[in-house]
Amino acid sequence: MFETLSDRLTSVFSSLRSKGRLSDADIDATCREIRIALLEADVALPVVKTFVAQVKERARGAEVSQALNPAQQVVKIVNDELIEILGGETRRLRYAKTPPTVIMLAGLQGAGKTTLAGKLARWLREQNHTPLLVAADLQRPNAVQQLSVVAERAGVAVYAPEPGNGVGDPIAVARQSIDHARRQQHDVVIIDTAGRLGIDQELMKQAADIRDAVTPDEVLFVVDAMIGQDAVSTAQAFMDGVGFDGVVLTKLDGDARGGAALSVRHITGKPIMFASTGEKLEDFDAFHPDRMASRILDMGDILTLIEQAQKTFDEEQAAKMAGKLTSGEGFTLEDFLEQMMMVRKMGPIKNLLGMMPGMGQMRDQINQVDDRDLDRIAAIIRSMTPGERQDPKIIKGSRRERIAKGSGVTVTEVNNLVVRFFEAQKMMKRMAGGMGIPGMPGGRK
Ligand code: GDP
Repeated sequence: MFETLSDRLTSVFSSLRSKGRLSDADIDATCREIRIALLEADVALPVVKTFVAQVKERARGAEVSQALNPAQQVVKIVNDELIEILGGETRRLRYAKTPPTVIMLAGLQGAGKTTLAGKLARWLREQNHTPLLVAADLQRPNAVQQLSVVAERAGVAVYAPEPGNGVGDPIAVARQSIDHARRQQHDVVIIDTAGRLGIDQELMKQAADIRDAVTPDEVLFVVDAMIGQDAVSTAQAFMDGVGFDGVVLTKLDGDARGGAALSVRHITGKPIMFASTGEKLEDFDAFHPDRMASRILDMGDILTLIEQAQKTFDEEQAAKMAGKLTSGEGFTLEDFLEQMMMVRKMGPIKNLLGMMPGMGQMRDQINQVDDRDLDRIAAIIRSMTPGERQDPKIIKGSRRERIAKGSGVTVTEVNNLVVRFFEAQKMMKRMAGGMGIPGMPGGRK
């Protein structure tokens, strides 16, 4: 997702890098390029117009900063505007004063609602809530069963009409589920509603009726980010037909151009609250506009990475990793190994590498990464002495051969690892000192 946009923007910025100051003509040319980049990413035209106008105005207004060079200033403005267009602040879930909090999901069939219900339930359960999943999708064959499967995987309870009991009444099911939740002390109720392949009146009416019957605290509109511009028209139709409080973007792991993510907030005025990035229940998180913006600008998603690390490891370890990642200081092969092992536990390597700063340029290599490669690299590092791990420069020819033998790889692989390590170290130093990561040690403030 966002790859083309990310590449285009990065090349716009790199052409500015050599400039001492930006003339109006430079700014116009840059804005033209940004406009093309956004349109190619399928961002809706009104959004593109607003975005570019804002960037131009601010760049011309030259909020001259001593700390930033012209290219960095433009990156900063574009970053700020991306955050703005993505919704500014992270919008958190609103819980009802008296439980249960009722969350209703609406969207087209195939948008990923049922999967999302499971993801959200799991996410809530991790935060010590006791969610109840409600199957109010009684149209699609198997929908009830699918939700039950998802619920089981998420380790949460499900409320559904008995199978084989005829068509059933989704509105009654939704209403009864609230009483059931109260009785069983579930503090959150997630209602999965029926979708259709296209927008139709009946669908809207049913969703609106369920909404009226249960008065949800949050209606979440679930939309597949891969449907491009259609996401915007679908969102509008649901806005008019049912109304919603927040948006959930699914399939952000796909290779679509990402325009939906950048348009839907501006067009509907409703915040993107969650993002889904895969078929597994854990491929899901709250949506943070600032992190998404820095991912688009290929500044890496350091914060997400650190948070995932924190979930998997203790704070001290994560803080140490964060410090080294962002400064590049004192980063040794030992850390490289330690990090790799952390990363290995955190999930598929491709997803994680994509979050690291500067990795956008290396996308092709990343896509070829195989988790087994990591094990080979780990074996190589483990065959080194502690001294060598601290300072790989001291590893001479004969030792490389020994290490290769010891780890069952070729000398070339050992050489490659050492070279790659030096490159990574250099890149981290450059990232921390040059572009900088706001608020990070050594980064811009
Ligand atoms: P529903 O009809 O809206 O309930 O949609 P489903 O939850 O049944 O999802 C439709 C398909 O999309 C399923 O095959 C899911 O596995 C898949 N899916 C859902 N969310 C994601 C996601 O974030 N990424 C990817 N790649 N697939 C997803």
